[in-house]
Amino acid sequence: MKDAESHPWKSPPADLEETYAIGQGGDLVSRLATDVIPYHSGNTHPKFWGWVVGSGLPTDIMAGLAGAVMNSNVGGRNHGANAMERAVVDWTRQKMGMGPQASGVLVTGTSQATVISLQAAKVRALPHLRADGNEAKLTIYAGNGVHNATRKAAELLGLGHNAVRLISTENGAMSIDALQSQIELDRSEGFTPLAIVGTAGSVDIGSFDDLNALADIASEQSLWLHVDGAFGAWTRLADDPWRGLSDGIGRADSIALDFHKWMYVGYDCGLALIAREADQRAAFAVRPPYLEGSDTGLSGGDRWFCDYGIDLSRGNRALKVWCALEMFGARAFSTAITRNCAQAALMGELATARGMSLMAPVVSNVCVFTANPALSVDEQSKQNSEIAIKLQLESGTVFSTTIVNGVTCLRAALVNHRTRDRHIYAAVEEVYALAHS
Ligand SMILES: *Cc1c(COP(=O)(O)O)cnc(C)c1O
Repeated sequence: MKDAESHPWKSPPADLEETYAIGQGGDLVSRLATDVIPYHSGNTHPKFWGWVVGSGLPTDIMAGLAGAVMNSNVGGRNHGANAMERAVVDWTRQKMGMGPQASGVLVTGTSQATVISLQAAKVRALPHLRADGNEAKLTIYAGNGVHNATRKAAELLGLGHNAVRLISTENGAMSIDALQSQIELDRSEGFTPLAIVGTAGSVDIGSFDDLNALADIASEQSLWLHVDGAFGAWTRLADDPWRGLSDGIGRADSIALDFHKWMYVGYDCGLALIAREADQRAAFAVRPPYLEGSDTGLSGGDRWFCDYGIDLSRGNRALKVWCALEMFGARAFSTAITRNCAQAALMGELATARGMSLMAPVVSNVCVFTANPALSVDEQSKQNSEIAIKLQLESGTVFSTTIVNGVTCLRAALVNHRTRDRHIYAAVEEVYALAHS
């Protein structure tokens, strides 16, 4: 990995316009090898655990080649790429435990999937919304560790982010009592509660809401249950006890999840999965004359993905997932996901044994800790930030940081199929050495 600061395009040559007036000819492969590929961000390395950044698969290369050769537009029409995307959506639906009436659309990632899901929730609650816009004072309920994808979706959908009621959490899960009282309070004040957003795998500490409890409340209160399962939805493929974390996810009205995180496929590839196809079509389907279908021919085919989301022109994201499943099989993913959970637990044990402190229990694949709890809060924060940056710049080891209980701490999210236990041992020793140097 080369430092982006030294990238040839950081300060483009003065004669840029002239340089690109004519092509540079046949040395594209060597230009890619010297001026492009070395400047990656390091997330294909086995010790990259920062943020929630996926590691990418060798099958992505084949998918990229085949996809470029085909250049499919998967917005509609009758061709193979549409059928493949339907198969990938259906495979995922079964893994999540949703019924056959569910539908979905592949998107860039969970951020967009959240917008699509909550728009479907809005149209179900307000059937005239598409024609007349929104006058109701809608509210959304989420645990206080919810990812800001929900906030952005509320802003984009015209609710404003104050409509997202942040509910207190107990042991990382939304408090059911607090949720119920907030819903009652809002109703009494003239708001219209719309949806509960459950989190399967919180971005900071990897905690899970009790999705069965949320599904019960959603059904009692006639609310839409959306689950942000960006990475944590994939605990469905893990062995116990981790699989149990996402129990109840199949009862959601919608799930947003990413293949590009914990299914390890290359960027970008997320999914909006909606429990009832009718809800998804009600929110998005529209066929002007220039998109009219037919019984046969290229404009045939009964499901066009332009009727399931925002995009009309769309690339073939399903191919990456299909290549991965075709090559490795779902069991390989179960093994890798289970191993990542065990590795996060191992990191927690090793860090504790070295006198460091966990800032939250390790429940899934995320480990957050402070390197030297003997220091003051401010000194710990400063030291943890410095350790993260030093390791990022000087070794292949990448932690990110987050703030828990006022302390900026080191955070590892294991969504990396290349990580082996020896990398965990080595990284904890690196942190220990820096903390005591
Ligand atoms: C990454 C993440 C998101 C956003 O997903 P993108 O694919 O980056 O758009 C939302 N929620 C959680 C929990 C995440 O980890």
